[in-house]
Amino acid sequence: MKIDKLLEFDKKHIWHPYTSATNPIPSYLVKNAKGVYIKLQNGKRLIDGMSSWWAVIHGYNNLVLNKAVKKQLKKMSHVMFGGISHKPAIDLAEKLIKISPKNLKRVFFSDSGSVAVEIAMKMALQYWYAKQKTDKAKFVTIRKGYHGDTWHAMSVCDPDTGMHHIFQKQLPKQFFVDAPKCGFYDKWNDRDLIPIRKLFEQKHNEIAAFILEPIVQGTGGMRFYHPNFLKEISNLCKQYDILLILDEIATGFGRSGKLFACNHSNVMPDIMCLGKAITGGYMSFAATLCSNKIAKTISKSSPSVFMHGPTFMANPLACAVANSSIDLLLSYNWKKKVKKIEKQLKKELFELKSNKNIQDIRVLGAIGVIEMKEEVNMVEIQKEFVSKGVWIRPFGKLIYIMPPYIISKKQLTKLTGVMKQVVSK
Ligand code: PMP
Repeated sequence: MKIDKLLEFDKKHIWHPYTSATNPIPSYLVKNAKGVYIKLQNGKRLIDGMSSWWAVIHGYNNLVLNKAVKKQLKKMSHVMFGGISHKPAIDLAEKLIKISPKNLKRVFFSDSGSVAVEIAMKMALQYWYAKQKTDKAKFVTIRKGYHGDTWHAMSVCDPDTGMHHIFQKQLPKQFFVDAPKCGFYDKWNDRDLIPIRKLFEQKHNEIAAFILEPIVQGTGGMRFYHPNFLKEISNLCKQYDILLILDEIATGFGRSGKLFACNHSNVMPDIMCLGKAITGGYMSFAATLCSNKIAKTISKSSPSVFMHGPTFMANPLACAVANSSIDLLLSYNWKKKVKKIEKQLKKELFELKSNKNIQDIRVLGAIGVIEMKEEVNMVEIQKEFVSKGVWIRPFGKLIYIMPPYIISKKQLTKLTGVMKQVVSK
């Protein structure tokens, strides 16, 4: 089929994320991808600034990861996890326990980030059920957060920027507090904690857990908050017997400059969600880790089993590629590479600071964000980016990049150069 015919079918029959089924934002047909390049069917090569939404940290079509998939494929691509286990899952659990905060000792595998969040929330609720404190059934979160598109995950996304406002009436009601104003690089000010202390004081008997993205708020606003905020939230949770759930789905595996963003604050959550880069972006996969306290409490009561068990739990292909991706990450000085990207992003993007169209420019780790004063025209700006040879997908007022860590200095300069050109018009 010709390119036009394929795209015509796509437009007529396939639903793409967050766009109309009948009048969708145009899609670009991809032929293949290698390293930091996405090659379109029409032959155009684009430098990828998105890592396919935080996931592809080692670049596309990576030979090491390809080899891991092929090797596992020869053994088995899938086998059910009920009553069966396998080495790829055991190896992966061992690795995750070794590299994550040291109190996390139990691993629950699932198929996507949103599901990992659902599982985390269910774990928290079942924990309090087991302790016969069923009144502790609500969640607290900060505004401008994003945790996925499934039901309970939606209930803790920002009610305005979280893209789910039309379901507000049906979703479970949770407690929202303002997103921290004290930024990552600001002088610490504990004012952001005042409403949280008040809420905890008054409602701790109704609160199961505090759920938030550590340090980096992604899709809900691309904001970086102060590490002391997370530290203090952790202390308050302990003081008021509230569980702490950290959603490291976007930040996990080095993106913010630390292996996990919670390492900026030396915080140990009760439950932690991982996804996206866990497989180096090769396939949909996620994990929810929890402490022995959570697992043992749930297991001691009746029902003693945790009420979840997806068909593709611990899929061996996904586990194998995740093992390979984590080994690859830890095999080189990724911290130095991410630091280098951060330094370059700061140098090149901060040149725009006086631009009248720009509200703010922020950089942390391998994440660079330009916040415009006005919303951008996504279709037009996307077209311009593609014509200039880069893949960047803005939303709202935000034009941001989080490239694969393997990006070269020259390729990154091309990305920031095109961003500068486009926003300066
Ligand atoms: N949590 C965070 C912080 C995310 O950024 C996302 C995805 N953007 C999710 C959860 C949901 O993950 P998934 O899309 O894999 O369901």
